[in-house]
Amino acid sequence: MADSRISSRNVALRDFPRLAEIDRTVLWHPYTQMREYAHLDSIIIERGEGPYLYDIRRRRFLDAFGSMWCSVWGHNHPELVKAIQTQASQLCHSSLFSVSHLPAVELAGNLVEAIREDFRFADDPPSLNHVFFSDNGSTAVEVAMKMALQYQNQIGQISRTQFLTFYDGYHGDTFGAMSASAIQVFRQKFAPSLFQCTNQSYPMQVDPDEKPDNWRMNDRNLEATMAGLSDKLAAVIIEPVIQGASGMRPLCEDYLGRIKRYCREYGVLLITDEVFTGFCRTGPLIASSAELVEPDIVCLGKGITGGELPMGVTVASDRVYEAFSGEWSEMKHFLHGHTFSGNPLACAAAIRNLQMISEYKLKENVKARAREFGQALKAAIGSHPRVGRIRQRGLAIGIPIKDAKGAEDAGYMARADANKVCAAALQNHRVILRPLGNVITIVPPLNIETQHIEEIVRAISEGLKALG
Ligand code: PMP
Repeated sequence: MADSRISSRNVALRDFPRLAEIDRTVLWHPYTQMREYAHLDSIIIERGEGPYLYDIRRRRFLDAFGSMWCSVWGHNHPELVKAIQTQASQLCHSSLFSVSHLPAVELAGNLVEAIREDFRFADDPPSLNHVFFSDNGSTAVEVAMKMALQYQNQIGQISRTQFLTFYDGYHGDTFGAMSASAIQVFRQKFAPSLFQCTNQSYPMQVDPDEKPDNWRMNDRNLEATMAGLSDKLAAVIIEPVIQGASGMRPLCEDYLGRIKRYCREYGVLLITDEVFTGFCRTGPLIASSAELVEPDIVCLGKGITGGELPMGVTVASDRVYEAFSGEWSEMKHFLHGHTFSGNPLACAAAIRNLQMISEYKLKENVKARAREFGQALKAAIGSHPRVGRIRQRGLAIGIPIKDAKGAEDAGYMARADANKVCAAALQNHRVILRPLGNVITIVPPLNIETQHIEEIVRAISEGLKALG
């Protein structure tokens, strides 16, 4: 094996073979078959600017999957970089154990205000007033699940120890989050070590104006299941608006409201996992606010720092928070915490990100760009014989590639054709896309411009030629 020490940050082109060797043999990439990766041409990124990433071989790539769905302003937006640099010159890290720090206090206050703004048309002002920090999306979910269990225990509902989740849902890769997830291929090898959740259908609605026929049946089943488990359920966990990892599956309109109603009726908490859908990916900051449904606990991650630094946030309602109040000896305080929870650098980025969202009217921009993107895709590939019904909410887009028999829901293992299209887009157009099974996903930076939309659409349209 090559010597894996790199002595200089100023990498010369001639270093590429050695770096690529380390990349293929030492660096273990996530969700990647390393044997397959070893045969690919390594793309080793050196810097980013806007929607583009530049590799050490001076090639430019358009980041159409937003660096695993988190990019809000593209890469290294100068205002975010400045906020991080200014914070770094003051304080890089101090924990939230025993003491507090300025950026965490400021962010917590601003976030709660921003959530309020999202729910301004609701009958009652939201009570999502309590911000718990962690450092990634999975931990934001893990925190929410522990919070729900401890809450039920402390209000005397000790038999409420279970979760209701949805088929094809994804909530992260830690054990609690994995238990709540239901994409079988991701979890089956761990299944014996996971705890059981009750799964319900997630009725998909592709066309915003056309409710699926099965929603009433799903709704009846959901209510019956929740009634049957009415003394056992601690919480329902759902990706509101659209399921991401299962291949961009939009949720039937108004369904979240039904879920909330049953939660109220049966004393169950509603946890919305907005790690992907939140922070304007589907429009508003809080995705559930689009239908004015207020969760009891909301999980945020990915775009919260503009996608520049890791952060997880779990926001809880007054009702949840109050159940944790007591004497120390009662041990009612929330039994959870991470060393880097609410890291000051990440907080500084998130504070600036929130300001930019309102200063640059990001929510309105997402709406306009989403419409533009949808129209461009429809015009270019909508009638292609291998393209199924394009799924989109905001700037979360999935293009199912039909199999030879015309089926468009072939599942995660049937990735060959979508993979071919993505590989062609990368090879010929330097557009980075990632297939999820047979679905090509597009999750661009939220400030994407017309020329980038055109570049991505062209890459996919030409890429489809790889299917013969
Ligand atoms: N929840 C959802 C809905 C997600 O899409 C993801 C990541 N794709 C996560 C949780 C986990 O986030 P992270 O990768 O930051 O752990």
